[in-house]
Amino acid sequence: QTTLASKTKDPYPDWKAGDPVPYAALCTTFSKIEMTTKRLEIAAHCSLFLRQVLRLTPGDLLPTILLMINKLAADYSGIELGIGESLIMKAISESTGRNLKQIKTDQNEIGDLGLVAAKSRSKQPTMFKPKPLTVAGVHKGLMAIATVEGQGAQGRKVDGIKKLLSAADAAIAGKNIDFEKDKGGASEAKYIVRTLEGKLRLGLAEKTVLISLSQAIIFHEMSLKGQTPSTADLAKAEATLKSVYSELPSYEVIIPKMLEHGIFQLPEVCKLQPGVPLKPMLAKPTKSITEVLDRFEGKHFTCEYKYDGERAQIHFVSHDAATELATAAPSEGKSEKGVANIFSRNSEDLSKKYPDILANLPRWINADIKSFVLDCETVAWDVVEKKVLPFQQLMTRKRKDVKVEDIKIKVCVFAFDILYLNGEALVNLPFRERRERLHLSFTPVEGEFAFAKYGDTSELDEIQTLLEDSVKASCEGLMVKMLDGPESSYEPSKRSQNWLKVKKDYLAGVGDSLDLVVLGAYYGKGKRTSWYGAFLLACWNPSSEAFETVCNIGTGFSEEVLKSLHERLSQITIEKPKPFYRHSTGNKDQPDVWFEPKYVWEVKTADLTVSPRYKAAADEVPGGKGVSLRFPRFIQEREDKKPEMASTSRMIAEMYFKQESVGKGSKGPAVDDDF
Ligand code: ATP
Repeated sequence: QTTLASKTKDPYPDWKAGDPVPYAALCTTFSKIEMTTKRLEIAAHCSLFLRQVLRLTPGDLLPTILLMINKLAADYSGIELGIGESLIMKAISESTGRNLKQIKTDQNEIGDLGLVAAKSRSKQPTMFKPKPLTVAGVHKGLMAIATVEGQGAQGRKVDGIKKLLSAADAAIAGKNIDFEKDKGGASEAKYIVRTLEGKLRLGLAEKTVLISLSQAIIFHEMSLKGQTPSTADLAKAEATLKSVYSELPSYEVIIPKMLEHGIFQLPEVCKLQPGVPLKPMLAKPTKSITEVLDRFEGKHFTCEYKYDGERAQIHFVSHDAATELATAAPSEGKSEKGVANIFSRNSEDLSKKYPDILANLPRWINADIKSFVLDCETVAWDVVEKKVLPFQQLMTRKRKDVKVEDIKIKVCVFAFDILYLNGEALVNLPFRERRERLHLSFTPVEGEFAFAKYGDTSELDEIQTLLEDSVKASCEGLMVKMLDGPESSYEPSKRSQNWLKVKKDYLAGVGDSLDLVVLGAYYGKGKRTSWYGAFLLACWNPSSEAFETVCNIGTGFSEEVLKSLHERLSQITIEKPKPFYRHSTGNKDQPDVWFEPKYVWEVKTADLTVSPRYKAAADEVPGGKGVSLRFPRFIQEREDKKPEMASTSRMIAEMYFKQESVGKGSKGPAVDDDF
């Protein structure tokens, strides 16, 4: 990787030092990435381009990285693209003078709106040469499109898209390009449209961009001293950036600091801080208590109740501590004590969903607390019986603009970890110490705030009792966590071996539930003919950025649910499967309708098998068939998950390999969602 990155020439020769980064240069790199599937080459193209940015126009590094990861800002800002097909088609039609019908026909034929845009642009005769697009200009234009609100927003979005498209592809406008041959080449219109849709589809994972950035910066810093980095330097740079990013996942904060102080100073100047949510640590599933005992043999661990609600990261800064932060302090939930925000598992800001928690917060914070980040679960609470209510009750709460006086379902916060306290990041402390600090810093208030219940034991019988008690208390089971040593540190964004979940369902041999994306549906029979009666579900393959089908499901739905699903799903039908849907092409396997990837459902299954009809994990299972679920049953919608957070093909492959019928102990690839 070093060799390719160090020897290849600059990917874009015309751009001079101090020029804004030309968008065409980024698109040239995108198209090189799109043309290969080799991971090292992808990383090399990426880092080579970033080196050129660092050398010529470092001030544009931030928008370059953001466009590479297909984001306009950090997740918690809530600024997202994902513009619908119809608006984009309208803009393509209006900006290129082709009629909408032609655009739709092209879309049906080609199936990639990016290519349709590129093709439409190339067919357009050029009257005048537009001013070339720049990376910073495109980022700004997209930002304006994403944030426009209020009356006439749709029309203004279309105008914004038209503006970008009319300036795109000065070089190819009016020329006939062979789109079959080179996937639309470096067309700017193609990448603008894909960015607008929220999917670049280059096979460029966010993790690769981060690694490439670490390589580019170390090459750049050392070249200024006339040196070249060794493999050890590259590895150190990568580890440093990964660790900083996992604590502070905000390029807006990290990049300016990195340019100012250099990569190896980053851990000093970019630390976890309230206001910027971390990607939460996740747990690995286990099948039995004995499996837990095997994995944690000889170690100290604790068994906590696994509450069944919604993950919440609560950030707080007192008014006087706010001035010490590098970014703006959290803005919601102002009280006489300070300001606070609540973030979801996805780093989405939930403060408007839980104004009651923010209002209660001063009651449970001890007097000497200046700032903190807590990891918690919010759970629906029965105020009469004084106990936890099932998860479904919590889901009936509105997601936005909740008024405290209108709240019917009360929630109690169950805190299980503390990641930051009074100006200090605690993630590297052993869990035993973090838990002590947690308990010393807050005071439980009945029905508002509590600590997760736990027992520190390694006796099988006692764990069994804890598990049964947790289930009686309406919990899902236990979370078993390492207590001491470096292994017990908090690992942001990792599905870690050091957190194991034992759910009551596993013990019945049913296995973990899966979160799957609805891609298509079949019309019902008998009473159900006016609604959909069954659905085609898929998992997510982050390496190929594709949804791979895994089962049809028609069980577990009440009539009421089917009716409401039909209402919502019929709004997002598309004429053809998207190019990133992987499903059998057999005629009889096709659903009656296809959908945009939007909804995620939790599904349980009796077991897994292989089938030529589905494509899940087909790359990982010998024989080329996909893994599929037998007797799948709908449990509930997962409104808190986006399609790209669905169960991955790897998880499914691992579950399949773990099944006894396939051979106990046979090892599938490790499940790893981490960064
Ligand atoms: P699941 O569907 O099981 O919640 P998941 O992928 O959302 O799966 P996991 O890592 O599998 O997340 O399980 C951990 C989740 O359990 C956390 O995200 C959190 O919301 C919840 N939880 C409840 N109680 C605890 C606890 N004591 N410690 C950690 N997480 C807990």
